[in-house]
Amino acid sequence: MMKIHVTGVDPAFYRDIELIAGLFMEEVKVSDEPDGADLLLQFNVEDGRPVRARVTMTEPGGSRVWRAEHQREVKPDEQGKEYRKRVKQAVSHVLLSVLQESTGIIQPWGILTGVRPTKLLHTLLLAGKSMDEAEQILLRDYQLRPEKVELLKEIVHRQTAVLPDLYELDKEVSLYIGIPFCPTKCAYCTFPAYAIQGRTGSVEQFLAGLHEEIDAVGAWLKQRNLPVTTIYFGGGTPTSITAEQMETLFERMKKSIPFYEQVREFTVEAGRPDTLTEEKLDLLKRWKVDRISINPQSFKEETLKLIGRHHTVQETLEKYQLARQMGLNNINMDLIIGLPGEGIETFRQTLDVMKELRPESLTVHTLSFKRGSIMTQNKEKYRVAGRDETGEMVRLAREWAKEMGYVPYYLYRQKNILGNQENVGYAFPGEESLYNIVIMEERQTIIGLGCGAVSKIISPVTGRINRWPNPKEPQAYINTYRQQIADKLKALDEAYGVGEYSRIG
Ligand code: SF4
Repeated sequence: MMKIHVTGVDPAFYRDIELIAGLFMEEVKVSDEPDGADLLLQFNVEDGRPVRARVTMTEPGGSRVWRAEHQREVKPDEQGKEYRKRVKQAVSHVLLSVLQESTGIIQPWGILTGVRPTKLLHTLLLAGKSMDEAEQILLRDYQLRPEKVELLKEIVHRQTAVLPDLYELDKEVSLYIGIPFCPTKCAYCTFPAYAIQGRTGSVEQFLAGLHEEIDAVGAWLKQRNLPVTTIYFGGGTPTSITAEQMETLFERMKKSIPFYEQVREFTVEAGRPDTLTEEKLDLLKRWKVDRISINPQSFKEETLKLIGRHHTVQETLEKYQLARQMGLNNINMDLIIGLPGEGIETFRQTLDVMKELRPESLTVHTLSFKRGSIMTQNKEKYRVAGRDETGEMVRLAREWAKEMGYVPYYLYRQKNILGNQENVGYAFPGEESLYNIVIMEERQTIIGLGCGAVSKIISPVTGRINRWPNPKEPQAYINTYRQQIADKLKALDEAYGVGEYSRIG
């Protein structure tokens, strides 16, 4: 544990200081307590317009000292919370500078520690900045590396080409339906995913609750006259349930959701190849599912065993071919960079296999040690790639994707992600997932149904976002779903106002 003694800054910023320092060190504790400190940070912040921040970082005994300063422009209308945000950014800026200088580690995403850097670029553009001005802000005030700014620009261009009404999407909503079952639990997983074997009773009870939830949400949408942009079945692995159960679910959806025929995209995650059968693929085709995911994660047998995937490489290849034969023509595949024991060579081999398969889209994740996953609990057992090698693999993926004709179209970041990198979705132009864009850019309400589904209710009146999680665990869902449905509809009513809502913007 690295103890950092801080002076000259509001303790309300300690958490932000920990987040930035945490990009460079394993475990960090920030306090105003000098005893036993490994580092001293003396800040000097001049509130004003601009905000001026300076920092001096000293090792105990004063053997080595680093200094940085930064001026953060603040607009006249930025008051209160917005103003404090600028002060926080100035503090983060100088801290990042001294840590980069002292460690020699350059953070690709600068002071950004959040999930959605593309949203920041959209926000700057919506605030009237030109792309060039936004680029300068990202480089200067947020200290992003130029290659990451280029990536963001490319993605934002792509998103607005694919969804020209992206900024107007609050006239519609999307639906996420969570099916919390998988054949087995993978070691890196923190999704609501419960082994399906031996759960016949609770699967049926869960589905009965889900049917009611679909009806209730459908009735609310009808009453509000709201069309649905995208429907996304995730989980877990939705294809873990039987073909019959899936068909009943789809029928219910078709009956309840207004303007069903106009839904722009219908995705079903079929991530685990071991859940796919001819019967289920035929069903997905018949129900005009636009897009499915079959996720290899890696094409190395030992890795799949190590991470508890319980399917073989051969099975992924066979099920992929089967899906193709059955006529599914928009298949996504997920890969993970930095899985235990894998480095640049293994990743190259994985990309070679992908070259043969040519799925319409692929999401290249970078491994993250999520709190609560089996892998994180046993971290010492897993040997993973270092910062530089991870960065190299991320670069390799980007170059390879470009060569293959894929374009990046969505991006998100996670805590404790290897090398402080990112996850990027690539697609052949025209095959992008609309849902992935919508969820990342938070431009419309997504109503979550089923287990572990988090509704993100964006008020078209105030623009405020309200997260509304359903229970993660099937039994908790079964016990409480009626109350949950009632509470969620109430939250939706509050956000959309009584009767006709008046749109903002
Ligand atoms: S298939 Fe996906 S949801 Fe299921 S256990 Fe593995 S990572 Fe989790």
